[in-house]
Amino acid sequence: MKKILVLHTGGTIAMSADEAGNVTPGAENPLDNYQSSFGADIELETEDVFNVPSPHITPARMLQLKQRIDKAAHEGVDGVVVTHGTDTLEETAYFLDLTLPNELPVVITGAMRSANEIGSDGLHNLETAIQTASTPDAAEKGVLVVMNDEIHSARYVTKTHTTNVATFRTPTFGPIGLVANKGVVFFESLLRSTVCPIQSVTDNVFLIKAYAGMGPELFDAIAQPTTHGVVIEALGAGNLPPATLPAVQKLLDMQIPVVLVSRCFNGIAQDVYAYEGGGVQLKQMGVIFCQGLNGQKARIKLLVGVSAGMSTDELARFVATANS
Ligand code: ASP
Repeated sequence: MKKILVLHTGGTIAMSADEAGNVTPGAENPLDNYQSSFGADIELETEDVFNVPSPHITPARMLQLKQRIDKAAHEGVDGVVVTHGTDTLEETAYFLDLTLPNELPVVITGAMRSANEIGSDGLHNLETAIQTASTPDAAEKGVLVVMNDEIHSARYVTKTHTTNVATFRTPTFGPIGLVANKGVVFFESLLRSTVCPIQSVTDNVFLIKAYAGMGPELFDAIAQPTTHGVVIEALGAGNLPPATLPAVQKLLDMQIPVVLVSRCFNGIAQDVYAYEGGGVQLKQMGVIFCQGLNGQKARIKLLVGVSAGMSTDELARFVATANS
């Protein structure tokens, strides 16, 4: 028999639609009435850690969740399932991936349709997440996201559609496993990365998206002593409009780590172009190129690295790739 701890945090999976079709959290979490169909094979222990829509999730709440899972490791639990709103699910999943010791299977899931909508995917996703968390193969693969019968690595998965139940995808790499009719199947493992067992979390790490004709204004606005870092979703292979350069240089002069990813959905950022504002110049200026992560995940990685008290050189190494 496996013991699985289910931690609810809110999101559509814990909401219902009213007569007008508006989806809201109710006084009662519909997941609290869930009757397990696993019989004696899996014992479930359930806890509502908090009950909020995922746009209300903060790094402080991510840390609270990590600390609860740390505790679970000493409670004889075989695996942990977290239910979460899908809007920021990938960020919480990646935060946990970076900060948990990677011993217990930890699986995050959510729903695109609330509890009383036709075709609601919540209970199905919850059951497949529980199934995955109780599979020994799920350990040592980092935090996993299970949605719509697919198993994705928290490191790379992203929400790609506003409403479709097949919203979670892993661009460039694809899912690492499936929940098939006859059970959970993995067909890829994951390269190990550094675990940062942080005790507190900082904020003020910003994410800025580049665009054609961009000027210095957004960079100037965050050039403050309270800023701990910035991630730029740059153009193409990793380039910026020339008018941004003095403002980016100012951030670097203030010892604020500046991390660059591509705003492209697929591929990695590299210092390829040697024109003004091209990646070659940005790298020479001291911008840290982060390969393989999207903007929101690079922000989480930078935030975790800063929270761990890393020096500029350590941060540069830690943030350089998804696997470092
Ligand atoms: N807006 C919702 C949330 O993230 C979406 C969802 O859960 O699917 O809380």
